[in-house]
Amino acid sequence: MSAVRRVQVLVVGGGQAGLAAGYYLRRAGLDFAILDAAEAPGGSWQHYWDTLRLFSPAPYSSLPGRLMPRQSGHEYPDADHVVDYLATYEKHYVLPVHRPVRVEAVEDVGQGLVARTDSGMWRARALIFATGTWARPFLPAVPGRGDFAGCQLHTAQYRSAADFAGQRVVVVGGGNSGAQIAADLTARAEVRWVTQRPPRYLPDDIDGRALFDLATLRVRADGPGIAALGDIVAVPPVRVARDAGLLSAHPMFQRLTASGPLWPDGTVWPCDAVIWRTGFRPALGPLKALGLRGPGGRIPTVGTRAARDPRIHLLGYGDWTGPASATLIGVGRTARTAVKEIQDLLR
Ligand code: FAD
Repeated sequence: MSAVRRVQVLVVGGGQAGLAAGYYLRRAGLDFAILDAAEAPGGSWQHYWDTLRLFSPAPYSSLPGRLMPRQSGHEYPDADHVVDYLATYEKHYVLPVHRPVRVEAVEDVGQGLVARTDSGMWRARALIFATGTWARPFLPAVPGRGDFAGCQLHTAQYRSAADFAGQRVVVVGGGNSGAQIAADLTARAEVRWVTQRPPRYLPDDIDGRALFDLATLRVRADGPGIAALGDIVAVPPVRVARDAGLLSAHPMFQRLTASGPLWPDGTVWPCDAVIWRTGFRPALGPLKALGLRGPGGRIPTVGTRAARDPRIHLLGYGDWTGPASATLIGVGRTARTAVKEIQDLLR
């Protein structure tokens, strides 16, 4: 059996959040390792659909220390550009990323924490969990979901409109991903876009930079949430489809039938596929044995720190671990705070 490897701080997950943590751990002079289950760098950006565009220009989508270069010919870069950036980032800072190593469970051993992985054990005094949400797509319990005879997939499985050429497709869910996928499909398929509430586009001259500015205001002064402005950044493909009248949204249907969704007025829209853009849940399974969860199932945090165990920080899962912490530009701020708190704890 292989020996237990020891570090001061173990980072689980080598996507953007894990790398941002690595940047600050290196600056703090701490001994650390990053374990990543994936075969290659880039986190979940490796899996996004072909035409996805970032909602901010490249320099406003940067991790700490190193600007994302512009992508030639595109103000809003695609996912491959982000993968290249993240791969270069970890190389540039010589971050100790171990791949592929999957953490299966974390145990409390009194003086430290032990991570059991598919290739040995690691022991650390503190842990930064940065496993993202991609591994846990969420599908809602919509009546009749099992009755539908066509194809159903989550946005996590969506790659290209070409897969739906000539089909009738329902896209369920608003937000940036819903709008981008619906817009993408309009070129190849007949699309019906279904949202819980009418989509609210940000003004065309406002993009993800404004989302970050608002998040910053919230950090500093409990300012207004982004909901005050709108939900959807009108990146060029979305703008084109919207202006062509192809992106009108329908209210949520009542149930799915074998042939398609049924609305309260009794109409059914027969279709070939339903694509669910219904979100993700944090991939926190390996922390189960530590009993960190609160009554609602979520791990209560103070900033990024688990309320029940100051040795454990959660990075990048959403606003509950810091405003904009699940964005490229926002995760650096929460990573810096997490590392500072760990540094203080280990002193
Ligand atoms: P991930 O990128 O998911 O990385 C987590 C890593 O942890 C993965 O490499 C995974 O293999 C690893 N891992 C998981 N479990 C384990 C385990 N048990 N052991 C070891 N390793 C493990 N943000 C922006 O800033 N701009 C945008 O335009 C933008 N667009 C988006 C569009 C879509 C469709 C989505 C879904 C998100 C978008 N985001 C955007 C949000 C955000 O940037 C991403 O969700 C981001 O990938 C989250 O990074 P992460 O490091 O937290 O998680």
